[in-house]
This record gives sequence, C-alpha cells and structure tokens, in this order.
Amino acid sequence: MTVPINEIVCGDCLDVMRGRGGCSMGRQVIAFSGGKDSTALALRWSELGRPAELLHTSTGNEPPDVAPHVQQIAAMTGYRLHVIQAGIAEAGGDHLIAGIRRKHMIPTKRFRWCTSVLKYEPLKRWFREHGDGVTILSGLRADEPCRTGFRSMPICYPLREWGWGIAEVMMYLEARHVTIPRQTNCMLCPLQSRRSWRWLYETHPEMYATGEQIEAEINFTFLRPEYGRETCTLREQRYTFETGVPYAERRAGQGGLFDG
Ligand code: SF4
Repeated sequence: MTVPINEIVCGDCLDVMRGRGGCSMGRQVIAFSGGKDSTALALRWSELGRPAELLHTSTGNEPPDVAPHVQQIAAMTGYRLHVIQAGIAEAGGDHLIAGIRRKHMIPTKRFRWCTSVLKYEPLKRWFREHGDGVTILSGLRADEPCRTGFRSMPICYPLREWGWGIAEVMMYLEARHVTIPRQTNCMLCPLQSRRSWRWLYETHPEMYATGEQIEAEINFTFLRPEYGRETCTLREQRYTFETGVPYAERRAGQGGLFDG
C-alpha cells in the first residue's frame, strides 16, 4: 500500500527529510508501551545511534510480564526509562481497579475515561514538568495512516518515515530475537476481545475473579455488546469457557445479569 507522504509524516519528519532537523533535533522521547511497534522503534532508533529516552505509562493493570519486558528493552537500548503512574492508587498499585471502584464505573467504548485519566492526564502532567523542548516519537506504523498520536504535543512517526508496516516490524523483532508479551494492555480492559478474556481466564484466573467481583460490587459488566453478541457478565462468560455452552442458552428463563 502506498500512502501519500503528507499523510504519513508530520511537519517535523518532513523537516528531517528536507535536512532541516525535525525529529533529529532537541530531546526525543519514545512513547513506549512495550508493544511490538514501540519496541521495534526503540531498538531500531538506538541501533541508528540516535539519543532518546523511553516514556512508559502504566495503569498498574498490565500483565506481570510487561514491566520486566519494559526494563529489558531499556537495558538493551541504554536509554533512560521514565515510568509514569496514574496516581489513583498508592505507588505500584492497580490504578485501573482503584479508578473503577472510585468512579463506580467500568469504562465503555463511548465513555473511555480510563485512557484520559490513566494515560493522557499523567502524560500531560509529565510534559508540563519535564517536557521542555521534547519531541515525542510515536510507534504508529505506515500501514495505519488514519491513527493519530497526541495532538497537543510535538510528535514524529519514525516507523511511517521508514515505511514500516506490521510485516517489517515483525521481521525486525524476529531478526533481533525479541519476543513481546502476549498482551500489553490492561488485563481487565473492557474493550478487549472474548479471545483475550479467555486468555485472561486461563492464564490469570485470579485477575479474572477480581473482574467478576468488581462486576458484582458495582452491578455493571465488562462485556459489552461486540460483533453482534449480547452483553453478559464475566461469570456467565466463564460458564461458557468451562462448558462450551453459550451463556444465552443458560440464561434463557433465568433472572437478571448478576443472578447466580
Ligand atoms: S488498555 Fe483498555 S482499560 Fe487500559 S487504559 Fe486502555 S482502554 Fe482503558
């Protein structure tokens, strides 16, 4: 797929290509989630001998293998790592769960408060305090031209500049023998697929059980309608995982969503 140049590079990147500095000037900070794209960007950027720092925002609800991966990539690149926490729970706590309990609300597609409260706000605070002269390097790829990064901050998209799509990212990581955690998003992300919920149930049953408990406490469900499926609770979904029987069949003739 060929993407028009003005859709894939920002003004700063165009400056770089025109030899006017842009992304190569000032202090560069890589927005580093620990996922495949930002990992490939960080490794390649350091391979090119370019200075940068890594900025990782944590909701405290990421799977346990994410933090060691983030540390490992920081060590491989030699870049200074900044980890920003949302500040809802105590340091090192689970900010997503604390936020849900405090707000008495699970995020939904339409009201995704978690992204602004747990990611953007802490990031903006960090920028106000430490971001003088900083340009953010985003790992958005060349094959996702419609996605945009933080609009209110100076930002560059090196993967787009290099023409890297998913195939190039995967080939590069394979060549570097780098494996990425299966999931870098929140374990209780309400926007994840049923397949990811199954993965959570099978690999982190204690977190799945916490999700069930939260649903019962606030009388709301993580599993909203998606792809034509109806809403159900995590407990009902667990029944389907365990028996293979669709929850709709079991629920026929039963009471409300949160009945046993
Ligand atoms: S991963 Fe999901 S739950 Fe976590 S901040 Fe993003 S949208 Fe919210």
